[in-house]
Amino acid sequence: MAERLPDDCFALPPGVDWTPVDDALARLRAVLGPVTEAETAALSTAAGRILAQPALALRANPPAANSAVDGYCFAHASLAGERGDLALRQGRAAAGHPFAGQLAPGEALRILTGADLPAGADTVVLQEDVTLAEGRVRFPAPRKPGANARPMGEDAAAGEEVLPAGRRLTSADLARGAATGIAEVALRRALRVAVLSTGDELIQPGSAGPGIYDANRPMLLALARRLGFQTLDLGVARDRVEEVRAAFDRAAAEADALITTGGASAGDEDHVSRLLTDEGQVTTWRIAVKPGRPLALGQWRGVPVFGLPGNPVAAFVCALIFVRPALGVLAGEGWTTPQAFDVPAAFEKSKKPGRREFLRARIRDGRAEIFHSEGSGLVGGLSWAEGLVDLPEPALTIRPGDPVRYLPFSGFGL
Ligand code: AMP
Ligand code: MG
Repeated sequence: MAERLPDDCFALPPGVDWTPVDDALARLRAVLGPVTEAETAALSTAAGRILAQPALALRANPPAANSAVDGYCFAHASLAGERGDLALRQGRAAAGHPFAGQLAPGEALRILTGADLPAGADTVVLQEDVTLAEGRVRFPAPRKPGANARPMGEDAAAGEEVLPAGRRLTSADLARGAATGIAEVALRRALRVAVLSTGDELIQPGSAGPGIYDANRPMLLALARRLGFQTLDLGVARDRVEEVRAAFDRAAAEADALITTGGASAGDEDHVSRLLTDEGQVTTWRIAVKPGRPLALGQWRGVPVFGLPGNPVAAFVCALIFVRPALGVLAGEGWTTPQAFDVPAAFEKSKKPGRREFLRARIRDGRAEIFHSEGSGLVGGLSWAEGLVDLPEPALTIRPGDPVRYLPFSGFGL
């Protein structure tokens, strides 16, 4: 069974007015926990899924010392001086075809890349460095024992934790697990995320007529799917309490979390916040962030509700900054902090104090460009952007070349 959140989990300390972004994030991080159960699955099917338990190596990798090159193997201790001069033993060792015998001191054996070192050998000399004549193998002596050999367990020891719990598995992780003999892993079942748009003005692409096309739902559904979540498309609820309530009930019955857009403020037609206030639990978070108006964070029958602003730009930025890490926690991934680095600005800007600002941005020629307009109605800027420039709360004047913090969308898992 999924854990229920405490009723007041999104409550803010009394007297809080504008919450700084980092405080809001710390609060989310503190109150949320995983809600998805574990299930066993084949490692080969697990890319993009989240590990519920650490994966331990079933065997060392490599399982035995082997050769890193094509050449000749021998015991380093049997060399005397600067030049190797060893007796060539009959036979060879190849990958998948180990040499059954044991090398005596003073003997060398033909060995190919990936072959286990036979008993009595610890070092390999490259075939290019060798002269073969009269049954002898002659070469300049490698200085170190173990040269050109891969020690057993170099990559992983048996029993070692090779993949931690909470890890969202990559294709490379599948190789890491498979290389140590892991066939099955404990995964979190996929988080089920419901998405609802609200507003009387919304119409669907493909239909004509007056109205605003619903841009948020395809965006947020795709974002959730991209993060490996299952999605539940709740369509559009008109600005009527019964419609919003019916959608909430469906989310509570069929999903682990609900993302809504629109109607999250405190106006007459803001039915998301109204309903959560009257019949659920909600805290309207006035976060000092731009773009973004109040964020309604609440619960409906134990299911967390993320009430985002209707404006698509604000909805997108708030989804990345607040909802993405929160969903990661619910999904069992733990708290994720997006990758961020400083790059020189390619733009000029002065900002007022008070709010953290996220600007639609991308990197060209090593500098962060921002979209030509900060207009929050410009959905084109979202599509243009490849990341966000993150400006701190205080007043700031940025000139070209000044360092600014850049958060690539890829760092959010997009
Ligand atoms: P609201 O938060 O409901 O006051 O909406 C703020 C602005 O966002 C209004 O101009 C809405 O028309 C617009 N809006 C709300 N929902 C969507 C949506 N799903 N797609 C595009 N625009 C929207
Ligand atoms: Mg509205």
